[in-house]
Amino acid sequence: MQPKEAAAEDIVIVGAGLAGLAAALGLHRKGVRSLVLESSPSLRASGFAFTTWNNAFRALDTLGLGDKIRKQHLQVQTLRVMSSATGEIVQEADLTQQGKLGPHEIRCVRRDLLLKALEEELPKGTIRYSSKIVSIEEDGNIKILQLADGSVLRAKVLIGCDGINSVVAKWLGLAKPSYSGRSAARGLAHYPDGHGFEPRFLQFIGHGFRAGMLPCNDADVYWFFTWTPSENDNGIDESAAKMKRFVLGRLRGSKVPEEALAVIDKSEMSDVLAAPLRFRPPFSLVTASIAKGNVCVAGDALHPMTPDLGQGGCSALEDGVVLARCLGEALVGKDGAKGSAENERIEAGLSEYAGIRRWRSVELIATAYTVGFIQQSDNAILLCSIDLELTDGLVVSCSLPCRKGVRCLVLESSPALRASGFAFTTWTNAFRALDALGVGDKIREHHVLYERMITFSAATGEAAAKVSLKMQGKSGPHEIRCVKRDFLLQTLESELPKGTIRYSSKIVAIEEDGNVMVLHLADGSTMKTKVLIGCDGVNSVVAKWLGLPKPILSGRSATRGLAEYPAGHGFGPEILQFIGQGFRSGVLPCNDTSVYWNYTWYPSSADRDAEESVAKMRSYVLAKLRAAKIPAAALDVIERSEMSDVVSSPLRFRSPLALVRGSISRGGVCVAGDALHPMTPELGQGGCAALEDGVVLARCLGEAFGAGGNDGSHHEGIKAALGKYAEARRWRSVQLITAAYVVGFIQQSNNVVVKFLRDTFLSPLLAKTLVAMADYDCGTL
Ligand SMILES: Cc1cc2nc3c(=O)[nH]c(=O)nc-3n(C[C@H](O)[C@H](O)[C@H](O)COP(=O)(O)OP(=O)(O)OC[C@H]3O[C@@H](n4cnc5c(N)ncnc54)[C@H](O)[C@@H]3O)c2cc1C
Repeated sequence: MQPKEAAAEDIVIVGAGLAGLAAALGLHRKGVRSLVLESSPSLRASGFAFTTWNNAFRALDTLGLGDKIRKQHLQVQTLRVMSSATGEIVQEADLTQQGKLGPHEIRCVRRDLLLKALEEELPKGTIRYSSKIVSIEEDGNIKILQLADGSVLRAKVLIGCDGINSVVAKWLGLAKPSYSGRSAARGLAHYPDGHGFEPRFLQFIGHGFRAGMLPCNDADVYWFFTWTPSENDNGIDESAAKMKRFVLGRLRGSKVPEEALAVIDKSEMSDVLAAPLRFRPPFSLVTASIAKGNVCVAGDALHPMTPDLGQGGCSALEDGVVLARCLGEALVGKDGAKGSAENERIEAGLSEYAGIRRWRSVELIATAYTVGFIQQSDNAILLCSIDLELTDGLVVSCSLPCRKGVRCLVLESSPALRASGFAFTTWTNAFRALDALGVGDKIREHHVLYERMITFSAATGEAAAKVSLKMQGKSGPHEIRCVKRDFLLQTLESELPKGTIRYSSKIVAIEEDGNVMVLHLADGSTMKTKVLIGCDGVNSVVAKWLGLPKPILSGRSATRGLAEYPAGHGFGPEILQFIGQGFRSGVLPCNDTSVYWNYTWYPSSADRDAEESVAKMRSYVLAKLRAAKIPAAALDVIERSEMSDVVSSPLRFRSPLALVRGSISRGGVCVAGDALHPMTPELGQGGCAALEDGVVLARCLGEAFGAGGNDGSHHEGIKAALGKYAEARRWRSVQLITAAYVVGFIQQSNNVVVKFLRDTFLSPLLAKTLVAMADYDCGTL
């Protein structure tokens, strides 16, 4: 087909979904014309309806459409979460509470009505239907768009709102969306004579699925069902009829009330839809090009996410408003009137937009993923949050192969054992690892077993939650203690053959010589080894050699310390936690005489000064805590800590995405502990995971050395053993880093919607995450 002559347009938006139409209307309101290309022959309201939260109504109000949509939809007043296993109500929440910027507002909005309302406000001819973009080329600053019908368009600005399979996102080089392992079915039931349901968001969780229903108005009820398909489910999404039967079958097999089943039964076949759920790996957006020159993406083209927060469509509307503001200002606002060339202003406008939307997208995708993951799990233990530290796992991991009868040498840069961080929460999973190493009971003997956790509001001083820590896990009761690092390291060292650890031995460079690794030490000496295990912490030289990317700064800092009470401290077997006023702080007795404390916060540039010295840091923490409502006994713990017993550091984590494909091992080299998975401390799992690593690594390597009656020095055997270890730890590391990040984000977020979600129904889920992550068995040696 001969290309038709290229027509020229200033701003081309690809896709007439929520993001595309919101951006077009926003620009129109700013007096800027755009053309929207839509591949379908008419508006495509796939998905029927979506929960529309405050943030979306704020965007709709900005576009001048809020009241019209409000009139067409009723406000959902309450949330009821029920267990699909028992039929019992797990949680009820008022959805009309007062938020920071006014009362909360949640409606289930019909997509067709919203898209139509957006279209009606646009000048005639803004949307060109049956116009599918198939490729993008460049001619200087101009983008040349090839359409499926053979026509060509030239655009000065190209905005991709073309959904999850975005051509524009591909052109920008964004990572492909990943399959979440879950699918969703959705539908709409019409009741022309009225459905009679209360304005309630009803959810059913457990039994391997999450289902929900909520009325849009007096005549329509929307429902959804998300689940993890098994091989037996193959082909059920082939037709709406099969899908409907499948959903009804699953719901009938659980304790979901008849009235909910009737809603699904009533949906017409044309009103049922199923799709696998995909999301863009959130950390791929940290450094990705959301905008490049005069091209950018918005909506699902930017941040496809799993539907667990009900925020995909809402954030597409937010994108549209922010984009219209940034681009409109650049073109016609007071900045736009200034002298710089138009293409430079466009570039600056889009880059401002990308800056605003980058972290919002990362946080929403990551949060939605984690919430979905937890909600569908069947573990229903509730617990409040906890804040603990990382460990470098240096000696821990390296010492382990010795238990399998394999000799090894541990190189440590310090002149003696370095127990930096003083203590760490040691969860059930870590005790399993310590038992595998034969030191569990010795550690238990010297550390108090927690019975409960009390969380106080730092603003009011009141106890917000009291939770028993005597919980049953998958394979026995849970066990949580705060273990002193020096004691643990000394215990491990004492179990090792003399001379295993060589102190003051810092590796500065690594070279490969065939199957042998040559290590250069800071004192100028060299050493050769067949197996090199990097347990060298967050700044690992070995991780760098493997090509793993540098850890990212989380923007938060942590200070921790240890106070000694030779005559006894008087605290009970409990974790005390203070949350609010911009910080989280914990007080945790280790035994009868030692108490560990921690404090995490977002430092402002003014606080940098405090981080200069330990004395300043301690005074800073004390001033913050004194200004809040913290009991005198907790303040005394910090006041009592010796200067040498306080440390402070910025919190860093490795992008979990980097670990999805990154080399955890190569040949005879691998990493473990913080060298593998530095994470933020919200789950208190960094040190525990380092112990798990050690056991798994020792098992894999020990088997290789013992295999086949040879001495195990065979390179292929070692390589395979380290490869096996790497695969065993890859997903566990990704999961832990992501969960820790998301829990931290939710706990400290000041975002209105996230805060609201946290206060209504995320808190118990956060608690569940902590325990779920500890309910893990790394196996024996
Ligand atoms: C099960 C489920 C439940 C959900 N529930 C909610 C919820 O409760 N609340 C919420 O806020 N969000 C929810 N979402 C997310 C929400 O549906 C999406 O985030 C939202 O629709 C994204 O809008 P968009 O405009 O970016 O993309 P889309 O709605 O996908 O629009 C993209 C448009 O681009 C067009 N297009 C695609 N390719 C081309 C091309 N090459 N050329 C021209 N046109 C093209 C398409 O035809 C389409 O019209 C849910 C999603 C799922 C899967």
